[in-house]
Amino acid sequence: MSIREIRVFQVPLENQRSYTMSNSSVGSAVSTVVELVDADGTTGYGEACLASPQYQPEHNDGVRASLAILAPAILGLDPLRHQVVNGAMHAAMSGHPAGKAALDIACWDVAGKKLNRSVVDLLGGAHTGPSADGDVRGNRVLTYHVVGIGTPEQAVAEAQELLDAGHTRFQLKTGGRPIHHDIDSIRAVAGVLPPHADLAVDTNRGWTAVEAIQVSNACADIRMSMEQPCATEAELHQVKAQGRHPIVVDENATSLAAIARMISSGLADGFGLKLTRLGGLTPMRAVRDLCMDARVPMSSDDAWGGDIIAAASVALGATLVPQFSRGAWIAHPYHQQHYDENNGPRLDSGFVTLPEGGPGLGLAIEEGMFGTPDAVYR
Ligand SMILES: [Mg+2]
Repeated sequence: MSIREIRVFQVPLENQRSYTMSNSSVGSAVSTVVELVDADGTTGYGEACLASPQYQPEHNDGVRASLAILAPAILGLDPLRHQVVNGAMHAAMSGHPAGKAALDIACWDVAGKKLNRSVVDLLGGAHTGPSADGDVRGNRVLTYHVVGIGTPEQAVAEAQELLDAGHTRFQLKTGGRPIHHDIDSIRAVAGVLPPHADLAVDTNRGWTAVEAIQVSNACADIRMSMEQPCATEAELHQVKAQGRHPIVVDENATSLAAIARMISSGLADGFGLKLTRLGGLTPMRAVRDLCMDARVPMSSDDAWGGDIIAAASVALGATLVPQFSRGAWIAHPYHQQHYDENNGPRLDSGFVTLPEGGPGLGLAIEEGMFGTPDAVYR
């Protein structure tokens, strides 16, 4: 078993609805898909797609540039040896976790296909029993949905629509405007959510520590968490000490070491985690084991992308202990495109059903689906 060839494709994902954050909005992104071919012809897929250039330090053109260094470094390696493959990528290039994630995910897909098992099983297996709220999951993975930045009336209308569609987990975007507007939106949305709903207020680094503390005090009576209210770990510590709400860390959770530090210091009450920021399923598996053992809830998301990265996010999300799962997030509601029309992950009443199109990631992708490769490494 050895990696014989890696093909890289550009896949435009056209947005159908708006997605607004404190410091940016996401337009139509160009995803990067990798097709990894093993010596026996088995093909696995990986993907990385980053949101707005303002959201994370990486960029989609940079992902493709990084693959020119990373892909040749893993040719000839056994795709089942995830630690070896990741070691070779780290030796070839520092940083660039999104490019590494695409290749790492493709190796897991190949591994599943060769062993005739799902990636979910290779990651340890799905928790299919009842969740903390008594809902039986089966092959469904909990998800959460975003309510964008707008007026209180717009936020309430969006939240109400999601409630009607069966969602129980809400992430309200805030920041980038005077905080009294955010306070009004938080109070309005909290006012329409039923007791079993979960509210995370995600500011995507948009407030100063003082602003975050003021918002927290003004909303002290509301059961919610504050996700990445400020930009730096030092500011988050200040908010944790002087605010009234649990802190969820997203953008600052850049590595296993950083996550371990934020757990042991008592800063993080939860994490929003992205495969492309951590470098793929192999590092995410280690983070999962740490978070589950430390009893710190986490999500399994991607920044953006199509069916492949969504299937990988949902696969890891299925293996989270239900009590400590914040859900898996996928970008499909925004672009509405599928690489596998039958099995591509999509939302259904607050859950995402695991794809069942075969072993590996569970997707049945037709050969030639992505057209002519942008680059081929062999
Ligand atoms: Mg977030």
